[in-house]
Amino acid sequence: MAHMKRQTVVDLVETVVGYANGFDRALVSSALSKAELKDLLLDENVEQCPGCRWWVDSSELLNEDDKIDGHCENCRD
Ligand SMILES: [Zn+2]
Repeated sequence: MAHMKRQTVVDLVETVVGYANGFDRALVSSALSKAELKDLLLDENVEQCPGCRWWVDSSELLNEDDKIDGHCENCRD
């Protein structure tokens, strides 16, 4: 991962958050392992929502009280 270009990282993140199957797409295009791709995403503050399984910016997983409530902005009531 140390050898990955910045633009490549940006493209991977855009793929993961932009498509329902974005994680799988990014896995194929990057040739990373699932764990490596997850680490890369975490470095970019992108995490999987426990509620709807969509990959979102980590800040979206916080509710109004800045607590993690298991939902993102898309699936929170
Ligand atoms: Zn969600």
